[in-house]
Amino acid sequence: MSSTQQRDYYDILGVARSASADEIKKAFRKKAKEYHPDVNPSADAEDMFKQLGEAADVLSDPQKRQVYDTYGHDGLKSGGYQTNWDFMQGFPDLNDLFSTFFGGDFGYGAPRRRNPNQGEHIRMELVVSFEEAAFGIKRDVTVPRLGPCEPCSGSGSADNAGPSVCTTCGGQGQVRHTTQTLLGHFTQVGACPNCNGSGRMITNPCKSCRGEGRSQTKHTFTVTVPAGVDSGTQLRVAGEGNSGPNGGPSGDLFLVMTIQEHPVLQRDGYNVVSVQPVSYALLALGGSISVPVLAQSGSGSESITIPAGTANGHVFTLRDFGVPVLNQPGRRGDHFVQVQIEVPTKLGHEERHLLEALRELETGKTTPSGKKNGKAPHTDHGGEHESVLDKFKKVLGGHA
Ligand SMILES: [Zn+2]
Ligand SMILES: [Zn+2]
Repeated sequence: MSSTQQRDYYDILGVARSASADEIKKAFRKKAKEYHPDVNPSADAEDMFKQLGEAADVLSDPQKRQVYDTYGHDGLKSGGYQTNWDFMQGFPDLNDLFSTFFGGDFGYGAPRRRNPNQGEHIRMELVVSFEEAAFGIKRDVTVPRLGPCEPCSGSGSADNAGPSVCTTCGGQGQVRHTTQTLLGHFTQVGACPNCNGSGRMITNPCKSCRGEGRSQTKHTFTVTVPAGVDSGTQLRVAGEGNSGPNGGPSGDLFLVMTIQEHPVLQRDGYNVVSVQPVSYALLALGGSISVPVLAQSGSGSESITIPAGTANGHVFTLRDFGVPVLNQPGRRGDHFVQVQIEVPTKLGHEERHLLEALRELETGKTTPSGKKNGKAPHTDHGGEHESVLDKFKKVLGGHA
């Protein structure tokens, strides 16, 4: 996956090229809080968040920043740096992310060290109907996940000896490796591959889970989808991701909403939009119609009064008939109904008769000579030229 066009890292964070490490830190803290997909349901947030991650990853590291300042994005690539962020396992906790780049605490809660034993986050699609998304629903979901291994109770150890200190990293959980690149030697510190950063290893592994302490299971539970979710909204269910290896804490589950289409209604944010087919006569003469509206039951309707002489394409607003706003009980969007003339494909005898009479009336007026079915007259009557609609209005409703 490669981004089509890479934006300047300083632009992304909104800082000057001369920004100090502290300014970069502050800018990232502010923007990451704003765009983290857990708190920002908009479709662009995820992409923006990834870009912020990349920018912070590079600009928080003096070595990478220097390469970027000198050679730009290409310099980083040819320098062997991984700058493409992918959160297939879900989005990292803000505290974790912040300490990854800058060390220390992100700004709320106590400082936390990322636990290398935590299980992976899981992302899963959840399909709900148009109405369920609008009004919310309780839904049973089944998540295939790695749960604690039963024979060893999640410890990974066949006997009760438990884990011992990792021999590769001596319990540090980290190893250093130096890579030679076009731009010189770079030393990077990474998680120990033997113990995955936990600093401990299993000497006598459980045969069932091969020492991992977890096995494939399915877990079914009920989630509450709040009113007002939209396609792409992510719901985070804490602790329903994979359980951690060797008894570590579970990751989280991210449910990504997909909203089914409605046969008539469409969503535009919290507003609902629909097109209502009407007859020419209804717009010209006025009247009232019943239009489908959003309803929890799936079938709701509301009456609209059409004034005589309403223009084709006119939009009527049904205030507060839209989608309930997420996390703001009592607030709803509006429903916009656009009326659109539907030309009949088959005419009854009487309809045809009346329409022909109407056409004759119209033709009679456009050609003062009274010549029927003549060629289309040149519009040489100056200001007297009127649109067909104006004439019909006069004939039908007395509107000037
Ligand atoms: Zn190790
Ligand atoms: Zn086991």
